[in-house]
Amino acid sequence: MLKPKAQFDKVTDITAKFLKQNNINAVILDVDNTLIDLDRKPLKNIEKWADSLKDEKIKICIASNSIKKEKVTKVAEKLDVPFIYFSTKPLKRGLKKAKNILQEKNENIAEIGDQLFTDVLGANRMKMFSILTKPISGEKTKLGALKRKIEKIYLKKIEGK
Ligand SMILES: [Mg+2]
Repeated sequence: MLKPKAQFDKVTDITAKFLKQNNINAVILDVDNTLIDLDRKPLKNIEKWADSLKDEKIKICIASNSIKKEKVTKVAEKLDVPFIYFSTKPLKRGLKKAKNILQEKNENIAEIGDQLFTDVLGANRMKMFSILTKPISGEKTKLGALKRKIEKIYLKKIEGK
């Protein structure tokens, strides 16, 4: 349940070609540490990347667990895509909402994000294609750092290292 289907350094490394090869017609994007860093600075070339997906008719929806609506809105407006905030990943509620917006079958949707216990777990529970990216910036809080440590341990286990 915690094993990502694919892993990339950053979201902009994921090409439309790769998605199409895996029968993906739509993507659900995490925001914090996937599209923007903890200082809310967007990842380089993020708009260009979103456009490259749209050019290939791949639909995009943002699903962020953040409760900060204006922060999520700003990113969604920048990419010109629909969004859900407070999406409660790994619960199915928010991802179901995103699916309704995207109008695609679960197996044709990729969920992309930087966290195993929210993004990957949520996607796998929904039987969506889970893609794990590396967090853009380091954690600022002790709890965040601890979470990352636990994730690393799980990833190593999954990869059998
Ligand atoms: Mg995140």
